[in-house]
Amino acid sequence: MLDDIVSEVTEKAPKLFEEATQIAEDLGKPKPRKADFDRFGIAVFTRDGALVKAGNAGTGFPIQSISKVFALEVALEALGESLWKRVGREPSGDAFNSIIDLERQKGIPRNPFINSGALVVVDALLDVDQDPNGCVMRFVEHHLDGEKASYDKDVMESDRTGGNLNRSLMFMAKHHGNLKHEVAEVMEAYVHQCAITLDCAGLAKAGRFLMHERPDERSERPYGDARRGRRVLSIMMMCGMYDGSGDFSYRVGLPAKSGVGGGILAIAPHTASIAAWSPALDPMGNSWLGVLGLELLAKRTDWSVFGRT
Ligand code: GLU
Repeated sequence: MLDDIVSEVTEKAPKLFEEATQIAEDLGKPKPRKADFDRFGIAVFTRDGALVKAGNAGTGFPIQSISKVFALEVALEALGESLWKRVGREPSGDAFNSIIDLERQKGIPRNPFINSGALVVVDALLDVDQDPNGCVMRFVEHHLDGEKASYDKDVMESDRTGGNLNRSLMFMAKHHGNLKHEVAEVMEAYVHQCAITLDCAGLAKAGRFLMHERPDERSERPYGDARRGRRVLSIMMMCGMYDGSGDFSYRVGLPAKSGVGGGILAIAPHTASIAAWSPALDPMGNSWLGVLGLELLAKRTDWSVFGRT
């Protein structure tokens, strides 16, 4: 089935490239690159432990904002519900890096998946982990069956040098008493987690803890962990796809999180952890082909949480 999805995505890619070119022209933005519409990968890890993959599922990419899901899980496990005193659970309706919204909210970010929220989560993690730069990486690698993930050093460096808006978000949060550690320290842990590099197969494996049930035969998932997973999924459903979360929910019907590296992690509860990747991003910042591939997958299965489409 995944091979059919890759064929259909490949067939539809030129039309999306045309659409993307038109949008860029209308907005006076740089033209999209044709080559970015030629690469698409998808991998599915099922609850019985099978890993199926197709297309460019073995190409590595920086997970970027998808790391916010792993950081949230680690922070919730360590801190429990008290985390919600510092960050909300509502979709934002503003850009993922908006500072205006944070000012309006008096330093309490609307959710943990916009940048201000993710930075507050990292700040909270600094209280509980000796090695905050590596704690999200350790969590990810724990689910990779002994495989190692790497950091994309160039992405880390460009997020560092281009990170002044993120620093401003932190100063705003600090002004309102919602950032305990030094901005530079939080920044360093944040750029590390964003630069974690995985391929679709690795990302699908890393996301399997969100399937709720026993992720594999070796470790039974305790009830409390499964309940936490359900909560993380609810935030992915409402806030995971930037300002395209509503459209994604309508078209695909799965909780998901995307990143500017072109990756998307989507979860079919109790059933599968799915990763899709293609580098061209739509106006909302989500992968054009990734969203299409997941839409086709949801159509061919009954995996949408809202039932058959
Ligand atoms: N490192 C990026 C930033 O903070 C993450 C962007 C993203 O994937 O949304 O701006």
